[in-house]
Amino acid sequence: SALIDIYEMTKTYFMGHQRVDALRGVSLSIKQNEYVAIMGPSGSGKSTLMNMLGCLDTPSSGTYHLNGQDVSKLSDDELAGVRNKEIGFVFQTFNLLPRSTCLSNVELPLIYAGMPADERRKRAIEMLESVNLGDRIYHRPNELSGGQRQRVAVARALINNPSIILADEPTGNLDSKTGVEIMRLFEKLYLGGNTIIVVTHEEEIAAHARRIIRLRDGLLESDTLVENPTLAT
Ligand code: ADP
Ligand code: ADP
Repeated sequence: SALIDIYEMTKTYFMGHQRVDALRGVSLSIKQNEYVAIMGPSGSGKSTLMNMLGCLDTPSSGTYHLNGQDVSKLSDDELAGVRNKEIGFVFQTFNLLPRSTCLSNVELPLIYAGMPADERRKRAIEMLESVNLGDRIYHRPNELSGGQRQRVAVARALINNPSIILADEPTGNLDSKTGVEIMRLFEKLYLGGNTIIVVTHEEEIAAHARRIIRLRDGLLESDTLVENPTLAT
């Protein structure tokens, strides 16, 4: 069965008397080892869908099965548990701890998972090596380039071996040359069997994915396979 199964999902925000239907009935399924871009104009519901996919919030109606588990009605604590186990987040703004070394940043999710210190350290170093930052483990974020920071963030996202890598405008703060570096890393992860979902408004970034889902006004406008994906090399 699918890794992600979303059925007739809606999300309505209420702000005083105002009601915003951010998602108005979205159904979609994503299998393991897919590489998906989510696109759409500003306000079309991308962040809302991303928050649902990442178990940061629950839908107003409809269902979301993740790895066979219905996560659409979980409590905040239960959601946090699923999130830590299943989701690796990569954000536009990197979200690294500024005073901590790369090693500490990447280790952090393992501390929450209760892993012993020496094992944690070993895993974090291996992960930093796999994103070609083996020579930067004691650097702090402000001692790194944007692309290096984002690679630290990717290493941190991967450290728990998540089912899904969820990236929100991962190249948004990078110049295009550095952005390609991140897309090259995603390509490698995809070929290695990972499931990657990237929210982006850049067609050139989406062209690296194998499938593009477009939202408009809270609805799924199109869902297409990419015939000739850009292969970042
Ligand atoms: P996108 O990411 O595509 O720009 P969003 O999912 O952020 O779209 O927003 C979809 C709609 O929902 C917009 O009209 C936005 O103003 C509204 N919205 C998003 N988050 C909230 C919130 N927390 N409270 C109220 N309205 C929201
Ligand atoms: P935006 O959509 O404005 O670019 P972000 O991508 O930074 O915002 O965050 C998207 C969502 O993820 C927000 O609801 C935010 O509260 C949440 N979030 C941000 N950083 C983290 C984090 N480190 N861990 C978990 N959730 C986060």
